[in-house]
Amino acid sequence: MENFNAANEIQDLQYFGEFGGVNPSISDSSTYTFLSAKTMFDTFEGNADGCYLYSRHSSPMNLYLSQALAKMENTEAANVTASGMGAITSVLMQLCKAGDHIISSRTIYGGTYAFLKNFLPPFNIETSFLDINNFEAVEASIQPNTKVIYCESVSNPLLEVADLKRLSAICRKYNLKLIVDNTFSPLNISPILLGADIVIHSLTKFINGSSDTVGGVYCASQEFVDDTKNVNNGACMLLGPTMDSFRSASILKNLRTLHIRIRQHSYNALYLAERFEKDGLKVSYPGLPSHKNHELMKSMMHEEYGFGGLLTLDAGTTEKANELMELMQQENLGYLAVSLGFYKTLFSCSGSSTSSEIPEEEREAMGISDGLIRFSIGLDHDIARTYEKMKECMLKTGILNSQKIHSIF
Ligand SMILES: *Cc1c(COP(=O)(O)O)cnc(C)c1O
Repeated sequence: MENFNAANEIQDLQYFGEFGGVNPSISDSSTYTFLSAKTMFDTFEGNADGCYLYSRHSSPMNLYLSQALAKMENTEAANVTASGMGAITSVLMQLCKAGDHIISSRTIYGGTYAFLKNFLPPFNIETSFLDINNFEAVEASIQPNTKVIYCESVSNPLLEVADLKRLSAICRKYNLKLIVDNTFSPLNISPILLGADIVIHSLTKFINGSSDTVGGVYCASQEFVDDTKNVNNGACMLLGPTMDSFRSASILKNLRTLHIRIRQHSYNALYLAERFEKDGLKVSYPGLPSHKNHELMKSMMHEEYGFGGLLTLDAGTTEKANELMELMQQENLGYLAVSLGFYKTLFSCSGSSTSSEIPEEEREAMGISDGLIRFSIGLDHDIARTYEKMKECMLKTGILNSQKIHSIF
């Protein structure tokens, strides 16, 4: 990858608190005074840079966090939102109006899928869902009214990697915007360097990393971010998914350790994936040469951060998956919970949880099998010990049988 280090970019930003505090002061106000009425008018018109008006539009702490995330994603600007869905819906509503068409990867977060599939059509915005790395199919489905191509850099829950260089070339050719949800791979992948126009994160996951809040961000050009905040027709200004200043302060502090956490998540996930695979389990992880997008991910990622903290394991049936997850929770190996990026391992059965918005036949076509467990691997200090304990659970539930292990060694 290019000589760009997102963690350095974040670290080089300095801002001090009101009394020289090492953290910026939290702005505890929804509205701001003006010394002159004229400045207030200019601010409404968008002509008074650096003036705060009302906190749904912007607030100092939200701007600090936005600026750090813009640095991380190598964009001119960014805007934080109250949730990842707040960012996704604002961006799509800003770019697409009645009569427009969207091309989306079919393997995306369940909430995004439901928004595109169910919420937008009554507003006369239609979406074609495709295998996003089938470039012929993508090009063939472009219509005169197509505005955007939407995908996740590493998809949920199947961990398919989108070829962002190829997709951005298609976008250039047809004058479309490439929107990439990079929630699964912060620091691992820099979509802007690969040609994306807008990068979105659910801050709820790795970036905040402590599972104590929801949050989101979109990183884009200054012009686009300004458009979304326009008081007359900006999607984010008018839909109002505003993050609270106290929350953005706490997320900014957690962002400080992201580079260390991502390395440990990736190290632990690769450790487990390699061993599970050797044991003969059906494991999928982009860091394994057996993963269909292994080479692609290698060509796109910043090597020092690894292949990310997510892996999937097919337990065969929902019953087996549930049995295994309950046992692992009893053994204190992690929590049976949705979401990801926590210090503790989290696991859930995708088909019956975060991808349940997707109808069963479509899940099957995508390869989301009933027994598919998604693991967000934690920051475990002793991953060898975790592996041994997990293997015991696999043996106890019969997902792994001892004969199989013997036949391999
Ligand atoms: C969780 C998630 C979202 C939604 O984010 P929220 O913060 O829950 O609104 C979007 N995309 C991906 C890939 C996610 O994992």
